[in-house]
Amino acid sequence: MVRRKVRLLPVSEFKEAVVLIAKCGESHKSYGIRMEKTGTDRWLTTWAFPIKDSSAKREGYDKIQVKGDISFSDDYPGCPYCGGHGLTLCPCGHLSCTIMRSNVFTCEWCGMQGEIGNYSGETIVAGADY
Ligand SMILES: [Zn+2]
Ligand SMILES: [Zn+2]
Repeated sequence: MVRRKVRLLPVSEFKEAVVLIAKCGESHKSYGIRMEKTGTDRWLTTWAFPIKDSSAKREGYDKIQVKGDISFSDDYPGCPYCGGHGLTLCPCGHLSCTIMRSNVFTCEWCGMQGEIGNYSGETIVAGADY
């Protein structure tokens, strides 16, 4: 009888990670948000870092789409510019820091203003329109 050794990989080795681009309404700059796929349409946000629009395009981050159940890891550092932990998805499909002025949110991508509702799993487009 031949015994086969099966090597069990820790779950983390299977993880697929993507980088989405968000814009900060405080600094009007872009930053990258790293998300790990933890299951079908389940994503864990683990990291955020400053990024230039030009490099986001070059890395192909603008092609990425994410949807479904998105949560934040306990050590997610927040926006690298304003430190905010909130992200708001505009109907245009892009993410911005959740910065409210007189209860109104302004999308850094398309300029649309409005009140914030609950995210219900719409597709998020990572990035860069020019
Ligand atoms: Zn910010
Ligand atoms: Zn928008």
